[in-house]
Amino acid sequence: MSYFTHLECGYCGKVYDKDKIWNLCPDCGKPLLARYDLATAKKEFTKEKLNGREKNLWRYREMLPLIDQKFRLSLGEGFTPLIRAERLENFIGKKNIFIKDEGLNPTTSFKARGLCLAISKANEFGIKEVSIPSAGNAAGAMSAYAALAGMKAFVFMPKDVPLPFINECKALNAEVTLVDGLITDCGKLAAEGVKKFGRFDVSTLKEPYRIEGKKTMGYEIAEQMNWTLPDVIIYPTGGGTGLIGMWKAFDEMEKLGWIGSKRPRMVTVQSAGCAPMVKAFEEKKEFAEMWNGAKTIADGLRVPAAVGDFLILRALRESGGTAVAVTDEEIFESTKTIGRTEGIFAAPEGGATLAALKRLISVGWIDEKESVVLFNTGSGHKYMGLWSSE
Ligand SMILES: *Cc1c(COP(=O)(O)O)cnc(C)c1O
Repeated sequence: MSYFTHLECGYCGKVYDKDKIWNLCPDCGKPLLARYDLATAKKEFTKEKLNGREKNLWRYREMLPLIDQKFRLSLGEGFTPLIRAERLENFIGKKNIFIKDEGLNPTTSFKARGLCLAISKANEFGIKEVSIPSAGNAAGAMSAYAALAGMKAFVFMPKDVPLPFINECKALNAEVTLVDGLITDCGKLAAEGVKKFGRFDVSTLKEPYRIEGKKTMGYEIAEQMNWTLPDVIIYPTGGGTGLIGMWKAFDEMEKLGWIGSKRPRMVTVQSAGCAPMVKAFEEKKEFAEMWNGAKTIADGLRVPAAVGDFLILRALRESGGTAVAVTDEEIFESTKTIGRTEGIFAAPEGGATLAALKRLISVGWIDEKESVVLFNTGSGHKYMGLWSSE
């Protein structure tokens, strides 16, 4: 059973009925967050209950929003390995580095977590057509779960995304529209179809349940570290769903009595070619401005504006974290380092987290002994153009 009780606006706090279909807060236009009866769950849902459960994200089903499990769609998403990266530690001269390898998810990225929940919930609501603007991985993940549910999937991607992202969606029976522009332009086009044909909009944080899928990364890190948390988490940030989700998960776990009050310092890494969150963090702003001329090899980070910007910035500040911009050259170099030391064919977004770690060590922000989790959020297999000149 699920302890899901209602939705609450992350900005104005207004409360909404869990049995209705929502996108953004109808009142203020900000993201809605799922809330649970944590007081009752604390008495009934002990962490011992996880023993022997399935090794995917559904092991935390009581803290997920799906009410009737018969609508569950699963491809084995989640419970990815948390690897102690000893060879990488020796290579860069720092101890206690862990890599959460999200490239091992279905459709080879952590987008599977969010879309698994979003499409399962859409399935529970009886939705037949779903639509998404995506820089790449989200589209493939949505297409996979929509195929599993027998839904029609509409995908809007920038026309310059690497071919494997496009082929994946086609193979999974989505209708693909290539857009001459960025993900924000894709969003505008997708919104037209939503309005005209009544398709359900599954955009990052405009749909309330993707974040619930991604928050399971926070539950997993705690469980895999024997109910402690690392000192630092470095997260390659586009729309920020995973970062906001993990921050939410830590709060839920504390209220469940599963962990204490200690939190990791949360770090956002972006590419210098598209760093709206870094700019807003440095300027101490509550919201980020739209980034003009976004350009980076890390497609998942090519997000010039995010509706959850204030939630990302809040988590960074509350945690005592920071935001770092690294160049595409640093990203590529670090992606190669992960490959040669740990045998992981990482996505450039994963490489970005190592580039940020190196930077933060060099300025003394992270010390020798502190434990750090790097997120390799996807697999290198979809970014073939990157390697053509090597
Ligand atoms: C989407 C994506 C990101 C960014 O994730 P957000 O939760 O939207 O910030 C990072 N890496 C990869 C590989 C992605 O596909």
